[in-house]
Amino acid sequence: MGSSGHREQGSRLAEQEWQCISGCGACCRLDPSLRTEALDALGPGQRATYLAMVGPDGWCIHFDTGGRRCSIYDNRPDFCRVGSLIDLFGQQGEDGNALAINCCKQQIRSEYGGRGKVMRRFLRAIRRPR
Ligand code: SF4
Ligand code: SF4
Repeated sequence: MGSSGHREQGSRLAEQEWQCISGCGACCRLDPSLRTEALDALGPGQRATYLAMVGPDGWCIHFDTGGRRCSIYDNRPDFCRVGSLIDLFGQQGEDGNALAINCCKQQIRSEYGGRGKVMRRFLRAIRRPR
């Protein structure tokens, strides 16, 4: 999910290693009006799959909003997998780690705020030990 969003300077990102955190799910808000960049990057088949997953509240129908987790995690579509981000949104030579971090930050900021608990947890989780 997501888009390349705001790019940060490489030095800071070099100290960070992407990982998904539990209890987030910001990227599972699929509302097409908020995700035009994501939709534009998908092929026709993927787009149809994506649109079929949008629930009435804009969240993915497979997202467990109470537990904030994917209910079909092992079988989620390829475009939900971080490994697909670079294929969908990356530019040649782009660092997949930095792209994933920036995508998550953008989604988390938009769903939970840039200074909220989820963002703080994410920033702690991706900090590389020195
Ligand atoms: S926005 Fe990032 S951290 Fe949050 S659930 Fe999605 S991949 Fe995981
Ligand atoms: S299939 Fe799972 S990972 Fe993909 S958007 Fe839906 S809840 Fe999120």
